Amino acid sequence: MEKKVRVRFAPSPTGGLHLGGVRTALFNYLFAKQNNGTFILRVEDTDQNRFVAGAEEYIVSCLEWCGIMPDESPQLGGEFGPYRQSERKSSYKQYADQLIADGYAYYAFDTPEELDAKRKEAPNFLYGQATRMQMRNSLTLPQAEVQALLDQNTPYVVRIKMPEDEQVSFIDLIRGLVSFDTNLVDDKVLLKADGMPTYHLAVVADDKAMQITHAFRGEEWLPSAPIHILLWRYLGWEGQMPQWVHLPLILKPDGNGKLSKRDGDRLGFPVYAQSWKDPKTEDVTRGFKELGFMPEAFVNLLAMLGWNDGTDQEIFTLDELVERFSLDRVSKAGAKFDYEKAKWYNHEWIKRSPSERLLPFVKEAFEGESIPITDADMLLNVIGLVKDRCNLISDFPTQSGYFFVSPKEYDLAAVKPKWTPEKAAFFESYLPLIDSGSAIELEDKFKALAAEKGFKPGELMLPLRIMLVGGKFGPGVFDIAVLLGKTETVARIKHAVDAFNLN
Ligand code: GLU
Repeated sequence: MEKKVRVRFAPSPTGGLHLGGVRTALFNYLFAKQNNGTFILRVEDTDQNRFVAGAEEYIVSCLEWCGIMPDESPQLGGEFGPYRQSERKSSYKQYADQLIADGYAYYAFDTPEELDAKRKEAPNFLYGQATRMQMRNSLTLPQAEVQALLDQNTPYVVRIKMPEDEQVSFIDLIRGLVSFDTNLVDDKVLLKADGMPTYHLAVVADDKAMQITHAFRGEEWLPSAPIHILLWRYLGWEGQMPQWVHLPLILKPDGNGKLSKRDGDRLGFPVYAQSWKDPKTEDVTRGFKELGFMPEAFVNLLAMLGWNDGTDQEIFTLDELVERFSLDRVSKAGAKFDYEKAKWYNHEWIKRSPSERLLPFVKEAFEGESIPITDADMLLNVIGLVKDRCNLISDFPTQSGYFFVSPKEYDLAAVKPKWTPEKAAFFESYLPLIDSGSAIELEDKFKALAAEKGFKPGELMLPLRIMLVGGKFGPGVFDIAVLLGKTETVARIKHAVDAFNLN
């Protein structure tokens, strides 16, 4: 019988969640759902120095926003918990002990000062085959001394003993056969002086304990794969090893290297899913959510970073992605991040979404700009009218705030040079014709009156727009008038005529 698919997203709670992390979570989720499997959130918090308060809750909230909810997690629990590595601390030492007993790992007593001195001597110093016999460890010290050091509680770490001249090979479901020469890999620490495992030991122990069938992670972890594969083998678990899936990197827009938060700051686009406030510095880094992305669009654009379904289709719902996703269409090559394209996805989603779906997002954006929404039905209509013009949710207040707050300023430069008493008179005579009719009716009356007074309608449409909106933008001006309603339209025209005459 096929094993039930179990996959995990295993972030370290160290700060903002990079879009690459969310894409890893997404691909895990898609694969799990497609195979009726289980998607697990495991928090890899064994590095106490990098622990950041609030980061776990933040990650959970990012996943929630994206709609990619785990089935098992620290919050939800599950049969294979705990799901925080710090709470599994006591489970790892036995594996380090087993590896030492079997000759696959050793105690290393070198102090941080001794290691620093070595690194000063040789800047490329690596603790490994070439150097391990010159260091203070259980391979070089007599057994009695090792025992004495242990009895005295001398701090130590446990290191893997990388074998000489071996090729470690495995099949990656995206890359195919991958091989590493063990001579090029150093003796990584498995257990730290504080008794916590490093990522290398913890990931193997927990993937085994949680019966993970497929391990999805970013390509940056590929160089660590030989260590993990050897650990699976040395611990006698090779038959239960998950299949490996190293996802392509997300690259800077110019393709030169991995996209970092700093690139986002430098080029002016978000890299984190949601805004992150550094608890130490209080610096806030804005996220896709706060900059006005819809979760549907964010998920869609992430899926397309390194995957396509083989057709020209670019817009996918999460359900469609679950149905269509396939590992054999994930590319090996890194995917360049293009912010303009990201906004395009968001624009497409805004355009396609029913106004009811957009309403809560837009409401929040209006609240953020302190624009009072007097009438929720009106807002729904406004959304329908302007959504084609918005790339970001945050464009709605700018594109449609005037529906709720009459213009405080007018783009006088656009009207004044051609403003005449005749035009003022035209608008005075248009006022009584404004009724509660349709946009077409209002327009017909406007044009008929313009013809009667000897104007080309074009000369009057721009002033009318500026009267209602304040500037040279927005949807059809008569559509705007209809939504504003007769009273407000009349009031705005009157007010603006006075202002144009005066200035
Ligand atoms: N804790 C690792 C990270 O922060 C996870 C790598 C993995 O999924 O194995 O990215």
